[in-house]
Amino acid sequence: MNEIELIKKYFMQENSQRSDVMLGIGDDAAILRVPVDQDLVVTMDTLNAGIHFPENTTAFDIGYKAAMVNLSDLAAMGAQPAWATLSISLPEINEAWLAELSRGLFTALDKYDVELVGGDTNRGSLSVTLQLHGFVPKNKALLRSGAQVGDSIYVSGELGTAALALQAVQAKINLSNTELAEILPALNRPEAQVALGLALRDLASSCIDISDGLSKDLKHVLAKSGVGAIVELAQLPINPILTQHLPLLDCYCLAVSGGDDYQLCFTIPESRITELKQQLRGVAITPIGKIMAGSELLFRNAACEMVELAATGFQHF
Ligand code: ADP
Ligand code: MG
Repeated sequence: MNEIELIKKYFMQENSQRSDVMLGIGDDAAILRVPVDQDLVVTMDTLNAGIHFPENTTAFDIGYKAAMVNLSDLAAMGAQPAWATLSISLPEINEAWLAELSRGLFTALDKYDVELVGGDTNRGSLSVTLQLHGFVPKNKALLRSGAQVGDSIYVSGELGTAALALQAVQAKINLSNTELAEILPALNRPEAQVALGLALRDLASSCIDISDGLSKDLKHVLAKSGVGAIVELAQLPINPILTQHLPLLDCYCLAVSGGDDYQLCFTIPESRITELKQQLRGVAITPIGKIMAGSELLFRNAACEMVELAATGFQHF
């Protein structure tokens, strides 16, 4: 099988699904049409074997997660996903593996009507880089920079579940098969909060997606917004499996500095929360703290004592 056959078989979809794709895979480049009233939002993420996923991760999950981590970045901007490009390095052509990667990738992309419009295929150590393109009405994108003193801080979903699943996969903690089955999807099949991102567009003052741990990512918001924050540890949405297996302080550490959550963290004025809740159907969001004057990120426990957490977050280098 040569490169062209490989692309045709695993990455080219039968017919273009989107009317804004003038020309998809097959020429030297794709031709795409951005709606006149929209800004184009572009993001890219790489998954490297052994660094961003354990070596034994299934091809389906690698494809699925490559799409979801990028969709999560678009969600954090309040963007509607549209197109993808894929750069893939493979040590060899393994058709069974490629079929599963492709199935995982398109399972995730199809959920949001995203069309794969091009890419690049090379020989090398296993690495998958996906670029996603989405739209947001002009000047309506959600930024890290708008948090205001007094705003509430919210997160979606649960924090620390993926980090616990990684510990289990690495045999650092022993879980029952039932427990593992419950938490593994958080690591291998994260779900980007696209609908929430769209709902937040006109309501949130700032937004970020949590990929490297709440503490590290919330600090980006604080730095860009020129504010501080206090987070109530007892309010963090933590899966009961964490608290059953770990001391409370360790649970907080995982929730605050474990990576791979792919939830949204956003700030919102009190006055907009009712409106937001009316728009959200079935999306779990939890208030976890407040934006304050200053520049520090403080953590407070249920007894109202300030707590120092060894909160570093995922370090890329
Ligand atoms: P070129 O040599 O001109 O860069 P290629 O032979 O690399 O073109 O690619 C041919 C076509 O296949 C292009 O449309 C390119 O975008 C697409 N393509 C290549 N690799 C991938 C991939 N992994 N996924 C999706 N499309 C791909
Ligand atoms: Mg060319």
